[in-house]
Amino acid sequence: MGKRIFLCAGHSKISPGYVTREFREFDLNYQSLKVISRRLQSLGFEVIELEESVYDLPYPQYLTRRIEIINDLHATRPIDLAIDLHHNSSSSLRVNGTWFIYGSEAGGRKSRLMTASMQAIGHNARDISLEELGRRLGFIKKTHPVAVIVESAFMSGAVDKLILRFGRGLLYNAIADAIADSMK
Ligand SMILES: [Zn+2]
Repeated sequence: MGKRIFLCAGHSKISPGYVTREFREFDLNYQSLKVISRRLQSLGFEVIELEESVYDLPYPQYLTRRIEIINDLHATRPIDLAIDLHHNSSSSLRVNGTWFIYGSEAGGRKSRLMTASMQAIGHNARDISLEELGRRLGFIKKTHPVAVIVESAFMSGAVDKLILRFGRGLLYNAIADAIADSMK
């Protein structure tokens, strides 16, 4: 049996996160979920996707509910990695790239492997701890399995906007491969 990876799209339909003229963050998160899920399954992983009804909830229920679901599943049979998929924003057009955010030591090890995998194909990527980020993110702090938040790209970044507009399928597949590389 392949390793178990739990995937969910950050935010919800009615609390969509960052919104630009072009994109709503939730919609991109959800698209990335579908591409990454398909790719990881084709690589032999057992992928568990969050049940769709949770995406109808507002904040903070969409967050507390997914954490409960993950912890219940993990108690029944261990989940090797839980991932919440997001897209980033910055006040500067010059900030671009993929971020892997972690809390625990095990999450840090996986985040570094994901970062290295993206960098190996010449993509701008970094791993960053909650401490360095200066935020307490419930998805990482309250889930029992190893958890990582993936910020696929900056919706505000000059380069990332082009990637999101014209090549996001490629980006999401590369992120799936980076996740797979971190499971070895
Ligand atoms: Zn977000």
